[in-house]
Amino acid sequence: MEATTFVLFGATGDLAKRKIYPALYNLFLDHKLSKSFTIIGLGRREWSDEAFQAQVEQSLHTFSRRSADDSASIKAFIKAFRYSVMDVERIEDYHKLLQVVEQREQELHLPGNRMFYLSVGPEFFGKIAASIQESGLGSAKGWKRLIIEKPFGHDLKSAQELNQELGKAFKEEEIFRIDHYLGKPMVQKLDVLEQSNPALQDIWTNQYIANVQITASETVGVEERAGYYDHVGAIRDMFQNHMLQLLMTLGKNDGRISKRQVMESVEPLLKENVVNDVVRGQYTAGSIQGKPAAGYKDEPGIDPCSTNDTFVAVRLRIDDVFWRDIPIYIRTGKRMKEKSTRIVIEFKQPFKRSYSAQERTAPNLLIFEISPNEGVTLQINHKDLPNKGVTSTIPVDLHFNQSGEPEAYENLIYDALQGDPTFFAHWDEVELAWKWVQPILEAFEEDLVPLHHYPAGTYGPDASDLLLAEDGNHWWFDSKPVPLAQRIPREAYA
Ligand code: NAD
Repeated sequence: MEATTFVLFGATGDLAKRKIYPALYNLFLDHKLSKSFTIIGLGRREWSDEAFQAQVEQSLHTFSRRSADDSASIKAFIKAFRYSVMDVERIEDYHKLLQVVEQREQELHLPGNRMFYLSVGPEFFGKIAASIQESGLGSAKGWKRLIIEKPFGHDLKSAQELNQELGKAFKEEEIFRIDHYLGKPMVQKLDVLEQSNPALQDIWTNQYIANVQITASETVGVEERAGYYDHVGAIRDMFQNHMLQLLMTLGKNDGRISKRQVMESVEPLLKENVVNDVVRGQYTAGSIQGKPAAGYKDEPGIDPCSTNDTFVAVRLRIDDVFWRDIPIYIRTGKRMKEKSTRIVIEFKQPFKRSYSAQERTAPNLLIFEISPNEGVTLQINHKDLPNKGVTSTIPVDLHFNQSGEPEAYENLIYDALQGDPTFFAHWDEVELAWKWVQPILEAFEEDLVPLHHYPAGTYGPDASDLLLAEDGNHWWFDSKPVPLAQRIPREAYA
C-alpha cells in the first residue's frame, strides 16, 4: 500500500462514524494501510485534533466488527488523525487545508498521494471538486483520487451534469463511486465462482437457465430519511444503482466482468410499455415480526397524499448470446416480510411427454445469498427413502464462515487506495442505468403505472406475483407464491 494522505469531507457525519472509521481501523489491524498514512478529517464544528480523535475512538467502540479494546492498537491508529475546520463553500478553507496537508506530507515524508473522500451531501460534490482544483490541493506530486457516495444524480440529466462538473477536476479513472452492494463479500466472489468452476460456467447460459430473480427486501421503513426518500422512492434509492449493479455483475465474460456490456444489452423500455413490465407499490399499515407498523403515508415527514414508490418489481431481458429470452425479475422494497438480498437462478427442466404429474420434479435452483447471511445453495432433487422413496428437493448448502471477513467498506476503501476500479460504479454504467430507468421515472411521474398497495410485513403487492405468473413463474422462497392457475391480468388489481 502506498503512503497516502486521506482527506475526509464530512468527518463528523453518520457515515464516517458508522462505516468509514471502523473500515479504516480494520484495514489498519490487517496491516493493509501504509505505515505512513494520515487522515485529515473536515467538518464545520470547531474541534481540536484530540477531540476528533476521541470521537473516532468512540465510533470504533460502537461500530467496529473487531474489538477496539487493545489500547496499543487504538493509540497507534488514532495518532494518524488530524482535524481541520472546513466550510465547503469557502475557498479560503481549501487554502488552509492545503497548508495542513502539505505540512503532514513533509512531517511524514509522504510522496503526495491524496485521496479525497466526499462523505457529504451530493449537492456539494461539484463545488468541492472545483475547489480542490482551484486551491491547488489537486496538484500533488503523487496521484489524486476522489471517492463519492450515491446518489449520483436523481435522473439522467442531473447525473450527466454532475459528472461534467466532476470531470473538470478529476479524470474518470481517478473517480471511485461507491455502491456498497459491490463491496459485499458474496458479490465480490461471484465472478470467481463462475469463472473458476467449469460446471457453473457451462450452465450460465440461456440453454439451461429458465429465469433469474433478484430480490433486495428490507423490513425497515423510511426512518429518519423521510424528506429525502419521499422524492426518490425505491426506483432511485435502490433499483437504479444497487439492483442494476447486481444485475451487471451476473454478466458472462471470458475474462473480467464487463458490467457496461451487460447494461448496454438490456432491452430498452418504452415509456408507454412500462406498465407491462414494472410494478409500483407502496406499503399500508400492517405488522412486522408481530409488531404493528404504520402505513407509508402515516410515517412522520411523509406527504399524506404521496404516491411515492416504496416497492418496485421489474421484468427485463438482456439481448446477448448468453441471456437472450431469459426473463429476469428484480424487486426491492421497504417494510417487507424479511430482510434479504439474494439472487436465484432457476434452471430449465427437460420436458418429457412421458412424465406424469407425479413424476415431474422441481427445477434445480442456484441461490446466491448476499445478505444478511452469505452462501451458495444448489437445490437438487433426491429420493427421500424414509418418506416412501418419493422424489423431493434437498438443498446442497455452502455457507461461508463470515466471522473473519472484511465488511463492504473495508473492501472498497482498500481497493480505492490500491487504485483498483473493479468493484465501483463507473460513469458509463451509471449513465446507461439512468438511461434505462428514465422511461420508468417518467411513467411514474405521469401516473401511467398504477400504484399497488401492500400491507407492511408482506412480500409486496399481489401484482408483483402476477408479473411472474404471466410467464408461468413465481418468486422462489416467498411463503405464499401465487398458484400458477391464477393468471389474472394485473390490471384487474389496479
Ligand atoms: P450526515 O448528514 O450525517 O453528515 C454530513 C456531513 O457533511 C457532516 O459531517 C457535516 O458536517 C458535513 N457538512 C454539511 N454541510 C457542510 C458544509 N457546508 N461544509 C462542510 N461540511 C459540511 O450524512 P451521512 O449520513 O454521513 O452521509 C454522507 C453522504 O453519504 C451523503 O451524500 C449520503 O447521501 C451518502 N450516503 C450515506 C449513507 C449512510 O449510510 N449514512 C449511505 C449511502 C450514502
